[in-house]
Amino acid sequence: MISANQKIDHSKTLCTKCRTREATLSFSIDPKTLCNRCFAEGLERRLRARLRAFNLSAQTLIKYLDDKSAAAAATAFILHLMLGKTQTHIKRVTHVEPETFLPLSIEEVTAEGLRAFLDQNVPLSLPRSAVANASMPELEMFCTLKGLSYTPRHPHQNRFLEEIQLKYPQTYFSTLASLEQLERNTQKVKSRHPRSKKEQL
Ligand SMILES: [Zn+2]
Repeated sequence: MISANQKIDHSKTLCTKCRTREATLSFSIDPKTLCNRCFAEGLERRLRARLRAFNLSAQTLIKYLDDKSAAAAATAFILHLMLGKTQTHIKRVTHVEPETFLPLSIEEVTAEGLRAFLDQNVPLSLPRSAVANASMPELEMFCTLKGLSYTPRHPHQNRFLEEIQLKYPQTYFSTLASLEQLERNTQKVKSRHPRSKKEQL
């Protein structure tokens, strides 16, 4: 029984996911306020889903560029987590080679994608990043919570997108999804595959 002097502290906000632990984190990219554990679990799920979409299982060599950033550390983490027990060889490189995973966050991939789109660089080809569905602040917090070392790096970002993002929290995710759809569509156009109505730009 709660006595009069043991009032529940309502000044603490609870995590919107588990609703039991105190919410300690929130990021501009995602309106949810989360506890450390729910944040780390959620971001790991998000990164796993992205990596799965690359269909890497048949490959024996996977390269990632290490620039010491949290994006590189998170890329290495998720690659080893998902492919570490397979025959896949995960190689850390320090110079860009073909088919290398680049340490780029959602701010950077969307900025680069928009620039290429506005330059009418067709077919659109987005930078290959295993962590493009996470922002740099999220990746840095993820690395901190997982005990992965990194050097903080301010991402190059599109100022216009950044301003819209402040008003509309889903901006980065929807821009990335749109650019990836455009990438698929423009590459199909170039290869002269017949387009279905749904795929037309
Ligand atoms: Zn939680």
